[in-house]
Amino acid sequence: MAHDCVFCKIAAGEIPSSKVYEDEHVLAFRDINPVAPVHVLVIPKQHVPSVAEFGPEHDELLSRLFSAVRKVAAETGVAETGYRVVTNVGKDAGQQVFHVHLHVLGGRPLGPVA
Ligand code: AMP
Repeated sequence: MAHDCVFCKIAAGEIPSSKVYEDEHVLAFRDINPVAPVHVLVIPKQHVPSVAEFGPEHDELLSRLFSAVRKVAAETGVAETGYRVVTNVGKDAGQQVFHVHLHVLGGRPLGPVA
């Protein structure tokens, strides 16, 4: 666990979250400040700062993350209506938490990207 990482603490159960999906490697929980009716964050339990740090050793984890995204979409009722998957990297993207997370957004028409 990375020192002082809020998402590591959520993954460890030290900070509560509104859980949507969990398995051995991945956790999905509702964003505390939702910008759409469905706004879920999908994170690896392992600490990786952003997708910029992903390498070939993370291929299986990447697949697990997107598998969890599909489960979250089904669980939250947006699998048929559609949804957006976003991940922020660095300053210009406004990344606030430096532990990889995929935002799963849906439940309303989302408009153009950015
Ligand atoms: P980003 O700007 O991509 O780093 O997004 C970080 C997201 O984490 C924001 O949408 C925050 O609302 C969300 N967030 C921060 N702390 C928590 C928390 N304790 N529980 C749920 N979501 C959180």
